[in-house]
Amino acid sequence: MAVSWVPAERTHHFGTSVFTEMTRLAERTDSINLGQGVPELPSPPEILRHAAAAIAAGRNQYPPATGLPELKEAVAGHRFATTGVSYRPEDEVLVTTGATEAVAAALLAFCDPGDAVLALDPCYDAYPAGARMAGARMTTAPLSVTADGFALDPEALRRAVGPRTRVLLLNSPHNPTGKVFTTEELAQIAAVCEEHDLTVVTDEVYEHLVYDGLRHVSLAALPGMRERTLVISSAGKSFNVTGWKIGWACGPAHLVAAVASAKQYLTYATGTPFQAAVAAMLASKTTWVEGLRDDLQRNRDLLREGLRQAGLPALPGQGGYFVQADVRGWGYPDGGRFCRELPLRAGVVAVPTSAFYQSAEAPDWLVRFSFCKDRQVVEEAVRRLVAAR
Ligand SMILES: *Cc1c(COP(=O)(O)O)cnc(C)c1O
Repeated sequence: MAVSWVPAERTHHFGTSVFTEMTRLAERTDSINLGQGVPELPSPPEILRHAAAAIAAGRNQYPPATGLPELKEAVAGHRFATTGVSYRPEDEVLVTTGATEAVAAALLAFCDPGDAVLALDPCYDAYPAGARMAGARMTTAPLSVTADGFALDPEALRRAVGPRTRVLLLNSPHNPTGKVFTTEELAQIAAVCEEHDLTVVTDEVYEHLVYDGLRHVSLAALPGMRERTLVISSAGKSFNVTGWKIGWACGPAHLVAAVASAKQYLTYATGTPFQAAVAAMLASKTTWVEGLRDDLQRNRDLLREGLRQAGLPALPGQGGYFVQADVRGWGYPDGGRFCRELPLRAGVVAVPTSAFYQSAEAPDWLVRFSFCKDRQVVEEAVRRLVAAR
C-alpha cells in the first residue's frame, strides 16, 4: 500500500528556508557565503582548555536540569556587572540549550493556543516558528527604514497590541538589521508593555557585539521592567562557540520556573562540560570579547566601505553580525533576484532581508550580508563585489 504521509501542520511552513537554499547555492558555485551568520573567527583558547579539562575530569553526565550551580552563579554575576540588574542564581537563572531553546521554552510556557506574540518586523526566523509550535499567533509591528538605519515606530507598536497579546519578543542588538535599540526607544517599548501588562522576552545574544562606542542596554534594566522581563542570552556569539549551544534565561522566579518546566521536557539538561567551560570563562572577567568586538567592527567597516564602492550602499548597523545593503543601484527589482544571481555574478552569497519579514510590506530592496568571518574572507568578498559592479 502506498504510504501517504504529511507532516504535522505546525511544521508546514518550515520547509526549506531561503538560508538553506542560499547555502546550497554557495556550495554549488564555490561562493563566499556571507548569507549565514556562522562565525568563522577563533574562540578564546582558555574556554577550549576549560572544556577539554572538564571532559577529561569526567564531568560528562547529566547536570542539574536548571544548570550547573557554578554557571548560574557566573551568569548572575555577569548580568549584574554588565547591566546592573541582579538575579538570584538559585531560582532566577536557568541554563538552556542555546538561546534558541530558551526562546522556544518561553513561548511554550507563556502562551496558550490562540494567544498572540508580538515582535518587530523584520525578526529572527526562530520567533515565528517558536510561536507557531506553541500554538500562538505571531503579530508584528514594522520597524521603519530611514537613511540612518532602522527605527522604532512606537505608535505602530502600540497599535499592534491586541486583546490576546501575551508576550512582546524583542531582540537587541537586532538580527537581521544590526540595529541597537536606544535607551529612548527601550523606554517607549517599556511604556507599551506596562500599559498592556505584557510579559517581555528579550533576546540579547549580541549584547557584547556593539560598535562605535555605543552601549547595549537591557530592557530589564529600565524602571519597572525587571519583574515582567525574561532576558535571554548565550555563549555562542560572545565566545565564538555557537556549536556548544549553552544559553541562559534570567528573570523573576515565576517566569524562570515556568520556562524551566517546559525546558525539562524539551532537552531536560544541557552539555555539562560546556557549561563548566562557559562558567569559568564568564567568571574570569576576561576582556577577550572586547577584542572580538573590535575585530568585528573592523570587518563591518571594511564590508560597508566595499559595498559602497560596489554601488550597494549599506545602512549603518551598530551591532551583531550583519549589515543591510540597498541593491537598487544594480537594477534588480528585489533582493530575492539579486541574491539568486549574485553567486554567479560575483561569487558571493547574501540573503534577502524580505525572508525575515512576517508582513508583505517588506522593503524588498534590502539584502543581508554577514561579516563574522576572517578578515581576509571579507576582503576577498569585497574585491569580488567591487569587480562585479
Ligand atoms: C544566533 C542567534 C540565536 C541563537 O542562539 P543559540 O545560543 O545558538 O541558540 C538567537 N537569537 C538570535 C537573534 C541570533 O542571531
